[in-house]
Amino acid sequence: MSTNSNNFLKPNYFTHIYVEEEIIDHPRTKQILCRFPRAKTIIITHYKDVFNRTHQSFLHQKNSPNLILAKKHGELILKGAPVCQGFGEEYFYYTSSIMNCLYDCEYCYLQGMYPSANLVVFVNLEDIFSKVAELLQYHKVYLCISYDTDLLALEGLFGFVLAWCEFAKDHTDLTIEIRTKSANEVALKTLPVLPNVIYAFTLSPETIIKNYEHGTPSLFARMKAIKTALSLGHPVRLCFDPMIYVANYKKVYEDFFHYLWTKISPDSIRDISLGVFRVSKDYLKRMRKQRPQSAILQYPYEPEEGVAHYGRDITNEMMDFAYQILSECYDKDRIFVWE
Ligand code: SF4
Repeated sequence: MSTNSNNFLKPNYFTHIYVEEEIIDHPRTKQILCRFPRAKTIIITHYKDVFNRTHQSFLHQKNSPNLILAKKHGELILKGAPVCQGFGEEYFYYTSSIMNCLYDCEYCYLQGMYPSANLVVFVNLEDIFSKVAELLQYHKVYLCISYDTDLLALEGLFGFVLAWCEFAKDHTDLTIEIRTKSANEVALKTLPVLPNVIYAFTLSPETIIKNYEHGTPSLFARMKAIKTALSLGHPVRLCFDPMIYVANYKKVYEDFFHYLWTKISPDSIRDISLGVFRVSKDYLKRMRKQRPQSAILQYPYEPEEGVAHYGRDITNEMMDFAYQILSECYDKDRIFVWE
């Protein structure tokens, strides 16, 4: 399975766009519909009527996802989950303004979390902003906005990163993390440079990218984007998370880390996140059904408090190994390890 990461920028990428009647007149809805003039628009009552249909094939939909425009209700901001790296932040939250991603990483938890691979875009960002502003009255906020999608990859279509930047510019007690595997230099060159907007690039050795991170940009392209981001002054975080336990992982990751520091100056990086693959036990069950032939998903993970991972011994071995190599060139205090 492979998804060409450039195809979704084409005006005919989505053949059908489902729009909740409640937001049909929302300015963001109109802007998005204009981008896809050839798509058939279907008015619906609630996004779940389409998204939660039974008997959908996540993998099948990945090849040709539809777009759903909706209004986000309920809890707009959530406390950071235990499987996520919190970077020592006391007020660590995340929010999802877009559900699903156009990349197709074999280990992606979204295929276990959602019943559909269709892309849901919640157009009422202003309601999320209001909620964040409310929280900011009481304390600082550290907010991850690109967990259940890749917002930077989608910036050319939806402009959500720019909207968040504009909000963050006026709220300096807010720090935003934008996690990405994209190499969207065009966006990085046009987005405002702000000290409280961190671009967190997830990097993997090229062999891991080729084998498991289907449709994502190559290591070379991601590194080029990182260099562009740094040259412009954007705060950059490097995420080696998830590390994957492949047969010769020490050699693969050691070569990768050494290569990295020949291209990027360690001093220019804000911090580093390290973690091994882990996923909710329940999601893993569904992910395995989707991809019965996947070696990475069929590995005998060990369950611990609802989370499946490699087990304490392997996890510690991998983390110690990576931490040691990275700390040869990088400040230990700025390496955050998921445990
Ligand atoms: S980039 Fe992240 S969200 Fe997108 S498919 Fe890969 S793991 Fe999932």
